Amino acid sequence: MSEYKTPQALKAEADALWAEYGGKELSVKDRRAIPQQDMPTQDAVERRSTMSEVALGYTENQVKVEALRCLQCKNAPCVAGCPVSIDIPRFIDHAAKGEFGESIAVIKESSLLPTICGRVCPQEKQCMLTCTVGKAMKDPEKSVAIGRIERYVSDWEVEHDAVTPIPVAAPTGKKVAVIGSGPSGLTAAADIRREGHDVTVFEAFHKPGGVTVYGIPEFRLPKAIVERDVENLTEMGVHFETNFLVGRTRKIDDMLAQDGWDALYIATGAGLPKFMNIPGENLVGVFSANEYLTRSNLMKAYETGRADTPMYSAKKVCVFGGGNVAMDAARTAVRLGAEEVHIVYRRTEKELPARVEEVHHAMEEGVIFDLLSSPIEIKGDENGRVTGIVCQRYELGEPDDSGRRRPIPIEGDTFDVACDACITSIGNASNPLISQTTPGLNVNKWGNIIVEESTGKTSIDNVYAGGDIVLGAATVILAMGEGRRAAKAINDQLAG
Ligand code: FAD
Ligand code: SF4
Ligand code: SF4
Repeated sequence: MSEYKTPQALKAEADALWAEYGGKELSVKDRRAIPQQDMPTQDAVERRSTMSEVALGYTENQVKVEALRCLQCKNAPCVAGCPVSIDIPRFIDHAAKGEFGESIAVIKESSLLPTICGRVCPQEKQCMLTCTVGKAMKDPEKSVAIGRIERYVSDWEVEHDAVTPIPVAAPTGKKVAVIGSGPSGLTAAADIRREGHDVTVFEAFHKPGGVTVYGIPEFRLPKAIVERDVENLTEMGVHFETNFLVGRTRKIDDMLAQDGWDALYIATGAGLPKFMNIPGENLVGVFSANEYLTRSNLMKAYETGRADTPMYSAKKVCVFGGGNVAMDAARTAVRLGAEEVHIVYRRTEKELPARVEEVHHAMEEGVIFDLLSSPIEIKGDENGRVTGIVCQRYELGEPDDSGRRRPIPIEGDTFDVACDACITSIGNASNPLISQTTPGLNVNKWGNIIVEESTGKTSIDNVYAGGDIVLGAATVILAMGEGRRAAKAINDQLAG
């Protein structure tokens, strides 16, 4: 873990580097000599008691210095790593020259939600993984910090009131229903509306945004950003119907046969939590990460005294799992006042599926990592409340199908951890409501809707699907990409 530097110290370093390199002809050697610019963050102790965003964003000189590290490779391997193929060297080149308006315009040719993606994209597994700079340093974490530059220029556009509305074609008289308002639904809605079709987004929750509002916490993704993106769609003329659960409020068949929709796009995500099936999982104080995070994020339960939703108050919390969702739950528990928070994970730090940055932030905030261990029982008191867990210790064996070394239980080696709340975060599956209420909609054995890959078309005419409901729990940018692809197919179909 790198040593914490204050935002002021980082700014001073970047200012000095800009004075040295800025506005000059740089050789590849010069560019390679420039160190990656760290993201300024809130102090680790202070941020334990606030929900405000941890990563503060680059300063102007930090973004320009970071942009100078880009070698402007002719073949641009980074672009192949981006699921929506943003022209990365072109937007970075503009950023290096301080042409931030031009830079964001390039990004927006391919991505509709750059303020969100610049913050939460698992870049080191996507565009940064294939970047020449990181490859030369044998560490994708040291690649050009593409997402941080993307975040800066997209924030710049908002701060400078320079967001240009997306033009909408003349009305076509066709109407399309989008089911689910996560990144996939929002992207599809924008792309379909552009062509002049009437678009309504149906959302089960009372607020649009999907996981970006109910799952990812405020300290990683301020909700005002998602609200602004939704507002932009409203300004384009997209309608939102919240508290509308398709499959219950209205079935897909009825929407097609009676309500006159010309096409439907199903983007209902993967919101069904998986559980461990161990003794004690029904005790009071056991939550799925989804429920815990939804209470905190969507219902603002962290605003004690103001929110209507009660938040379970716990002093010692154990979170089961090692992905981004587990980190979010653990770091939320810290902010909700837990004195001790444990991540319990079966493999080692190297195999943790969460982003390295999130793991470091959790460690800085005092989260304890119980690695090579997994709960086998949750214990409770006479009132049915959680009092602790029993964990099994593991060692790593040979790699399994996923390429990661398989965790093997060490017989007889168990230990106890006292706690008063447990949060399971071992993955999500798709909610079966729509598939169970829609005869003829083909799904695979995991309940994900089966689609034609190039169009998102399902087994039912005029019905398309994409995002996590097709891919299984994936990422914001992949869900967005699916929304774009299906929108194109829907637009083509409606154009006859
Ligand atoms: P969702 O965002 O899940 O949206 C689906 C929407 O459909 C929801 O609003 C839901 O209420 C609604 N819906 C469901 N059923 C119905 C119905 N029957 N009728 C009407 N509406 C319905 N990805 C990243 O790239 N980076 C991250 O850092 C990251 N962190 C994450 C943290 C958490 C806690 C979670 C849970 C996920 C995270 N992900 C992250 C994954 C990412 O958020 C998802 O892959 C992405 O949001 C999927 O988009 P989507 O539009 O397919 O579905
Ligand atoms: Fe990289 Fe994500 Fe931006 Fe694509 S959208 S360039 S993968 S940060
Ligand atoms: Fe720049 Fe890296 Fe892309 Fe090359 S691969 S153009 S260095 S971001």
